[in-house]
Amino acid sequence: MITGSCCCGAVEFQLKSAPSMMGTCHCSRCRKVGASTIVFVKKADLVWVKGQEQVTLYSPDAPYKYGRCFCKVCGTSLGEILSDDDSFPIAANALDTPLPIQNQFHEFVSEKPDWLMICDNARQSDGHPS
Ligand SMILES: [Zn+2]
Repeated sequence: MITGSCCCGAVEFQLKSAPSMMGTCHCSRCRKVGASTIVFVKKADLVWVKGQEQVTLYSPDAPYKYGRCFCKVCGTSLGEILSDDDSFPIAANALDTPLPIQNQFHEFVSEKPDWLMICDNARQSDGHPS
């Protein structure tokens, strides 16, 4: 069982199985919301412990399309945790349990600021991974 929570503890959830994919997005949107390293989870694996009503969705204006959820008390990034899709990304920073995976790719590296050095060997792409 994987557990996750926000910084203030208002939001707690569990994952019935460990995520199989982890990646880091360097786009300006992910950077601003502090959710650049993400894991993909299955909706069927997500169990709310408390605080689902404390999660707010920010829906960006077009052409951006990915909504970003966060705790409305402390602002912790929670990725697309309110998504109705079968699988969706959530922010790895919200997870409390050690994971059996490490970062597997870097996407939107073309938008990465110069101050950030990529220090692993994960594959890189300038947009979404192909
Ligand atoms: Zn919180």
